[in-house]
Amino acid sequence: MEFESVIGLEIHAQLKTKSKIFCGCSTEFGASPNTHTCQVCLGMPGVLPVLNKKVVEYSIKMGLATDSTINTFNQFARKNYFYPDLPKGYQTSQFDLPLAEFGKVEIEVNGRKKNIGITRMHMEEDAGKLIHDAREPESYVDLNRTGTPLLEIVSEPDMRSPDEACAYLKKLHAILKYLDICDGNMQEGSFRCDANISLRPVGQVELGTRTELKNMNSFKNVQAALEYEVRRQRDILLDGGIVTQQALRWDADRNRPEPMRGKEEAHDYRYFPCPDLVPVVINEEWIEEIRETLPELPDARKERFITEHQLPEYDAALLTGSRELADFFEAAVECGGKPKRFPTG
Ligand SMILES: [Zn+2]
Repeated sequence: MEFESVIGLEIHAQLKTKSKIFCGCSTEFGASPNTHTCQVCLGMPGVLPVLNKKVVEYSIKMGLATDSTINTFNQFARKNYFYPDLPKGYQTSQFDLPLAEFGKVEIEVNGRKKNIGITRMHMEEDAGKLIHDAREPESYVDLNRTGTPLLEIVSEPDMRSPDEACAYLKKLHAILKYLDICDGNMQEGSFRCDANISLRPVGQVELGTRTELKNMNSFKNVQAALEYEVRRQRDILLDGGIVTQQALRWDADRNRPEPMRGKEEAHDYRYFPCPDLVPVVINEEWIEEIRETLPELPDARKERFITEHQLPEYDAALLTGSRELADFFEAAVECGGKPKRFPTG
């Protein structure tokens, strides 16, 4: 029996603002624990958040770059759960009224082009970090990251293979870097990815039971984790078994997924509109102003490299995959370098 995989991705991109989303604390990575904190991001009683306008601007940029509809009326909501890295007892996020919806990006795998739909993208704050050291009896909490702005980008379940999922992930990563709104550093957690994946017999419309793969921090891990999960689910189904819905954490050292416990399994977040923040109302003129600032994006740059520098499509795709490489290439050509030393065709 032949199966096809159905994959959707949720990406958290840390936005490159100088200060946090609701207070003036610095977002710089690597400071001494708990030095970038204040009453607001520590969730003290009686304080009020103030929205960072840059966060909205950067999020609109990403919305426009992915052909999304910008919701000119959107709203923050509280996502309630208890965890020691969340001092307020809730994460300020967006729920039924997100910043943007109905976007898409084009990917190419083995010469086949395909659009992947973006269901929604919304602004939210990051939580803090717990530090566990096996040699010590206690754990530590670092709240420097608490309140760092994130843009969560949720795709449609449009991907049919780990290769397509990786191509989509790389495309979003490239767009964020071209827009210069996220540093894209996966090791430092500035670009994180969760995936949900299910299998179904080819030709079946109904979706199979899905599992969630959490917190994969490199393109390689995403590919490896999805391939592992395709094999695992396929073996279960071929054996006549049933896939259990569960959250799994990819263990990169052991090259296998581990079941997760705790907050990730609790799905009743009792969302409600955040009473401390007025709804975000965006006027059309501002959206148009932001649209004017959009740089040339990877797809457009690739097309231009093909026509302007007579590059084969493969070379153009490779060179425009990262903004730094594309800039370096163009600077070299400007200095008199030949775009391609041994032209093909
Ligand atoms: Zn603060």
